[in-house]
Amino acid sequence: MKIIIYHLYPDLLDLYGDRGNVLALVARCRWRGLEAEVRNISLNTVPDFSEADIVVLGGGSDREQILLIEDLRPKAAELKAAVENGLVLLAICGGYQLLGQYYQTAQNQKIPGLGLLDFYTVAGEKRMTGNVIIQLEQEWQQQLGGIYPPSEAGNEFAVLSTLVGFENHSGRTYLGSGLKPLGTVLRGYGNNGQDSSEGVRYKNVIGTYLHGPILPKNPHLADLLLALALKRQGLAAALQPLDDRLEIAAHLAIRERFGPK
Ligand code: GLN
Repeated sequence: MKIIIYHLYPDLLDLYGDRGNVLALVARCRWRGLEAEVRNISLNTVPDFSEADIVVLGGGSDREQILLIEDLRPKAAELKAAVENGLVLLAICGGYQLLGQYYQTAQNQKIPGLGLLDFYTVAGEKRMTGNVIIQLEQEWQQQLGGIYPPSEAGNEFAVLSTLVGFENHSGRTYLGSGLKPLGTVLRGYGNNGQDSSEGVRYKNVIGTYLHGPILPKNPHLADLLLALALKRQGLAAALQPLDDRLEIAAHLAIRERFGPK
């Protein structure tokens, strides 16, 4: 069993330690005796997405987004085919914005997106910054319940229905009517600060504004990505829970400190 992780533009998209997401995936594989291979893919590389189990795109400023989009756009069709085929993809903030139709900057520059998903982003004057807590949509909560063996039903993960993180973006993202968000904002701004939606979920794609990095702060989300990748390989085996008492305590402390009282 081996998980191949494509880390796209690790040198350009790495705001607020987003590379920690890749480290978390690798660590959680190794702790379970699963092999994990990371392929760093940046400018002027033509990746074969059919070999990837998980693709990770971090966040980046407008400058980096403009720098890399011309390199990434020719790969859009291949990436879309892989996504339709169940590829697991995690995209954060600037990387998330690039999955959509376009991102219009504060200077009215329209950065074309990959057009993988039907949403668009427009920069506003006020930056949306701070701690975020979201409640996962019901469907994704149910999926979480199924990633550990049934004997672990009492595992604390089963009750973690929230994600915590940090956001800092001027872009406001508006999802097309056919798309579902990742969750509902309990604290913070999320997609646009208006409709309480946060992130997007389509097939095995997760786009979100949450830095943190998000996976070390939300180990249940990391395990969901791993479980989806293994399932796509035809390995239905449930994941063995890890000793995440510290991570869970940190997660709950953030909820306690910043969550609605
Ligand atoms: N450039 C984008 C914005 O400010 C994304 C920033 C980020 O990735 N944190 O909206």
